[in-house]
Amino acid sequence: MILVSACLLGENVRYDGGNSHNEELLEVLKGREIVPICPEVAGDLPVPRPPSEIVGGDGKDVLAGRAGVMSVEGEDLTAAFIKGARKVLEGLDRQEVEFAILKAKSPSCGVDRIYDGQFKGQLRQGPGVTAAYFMNMGIEVYTEEELDKIKIN
Ligand code: SF4
Repeated sequence: MILVSACLLGENVRYDGGNSHNEELLEVLKGREIVPICPEVAGDLPVPRPPSEIVGGDGKDVLAGRAGVMSVEGEDLTAAFIKGARKVLEGLDRQEVEFAILKAKSPSCGVDRIYDGQFKGQLRQGPGVTAAYFMNMGIEVYTEEELDKIKIN
């Protein structure tokens, strides 16, 4: 099975109540067993919700307790982000997970770049919280911008 950010599949789970439907991705995944995931909804955050960014590091730093996730309104959402990252894997057989395709630049799902915590639209290197958690669990992670790298059999 392939874990896929639900917003990429057209589910309206983004912070702004919309989605990031990606037709090319759907075409690539045709006929494959996919499991939609949205860590922020799994962490009991509402839709819509204020935008949030990782402050003081990346997702690895959040998992290590060295950084946090803040909403633009100043609410500390660190616990919800960590809870969501864990929850999306609950009940799944890890051995059955081939890899994950996650939404680029999200504070949860971003894989190699995320917003830098200043809410100014600037990016920094590093994964979001769920991508970092998946990496720790040995799950390969890609974004929808890397479809050429994905081996679909
Ligand atoms: S990027 Fe991830 S956390 Fe954000 S809406 Fe999409 S699936 Fe949910």
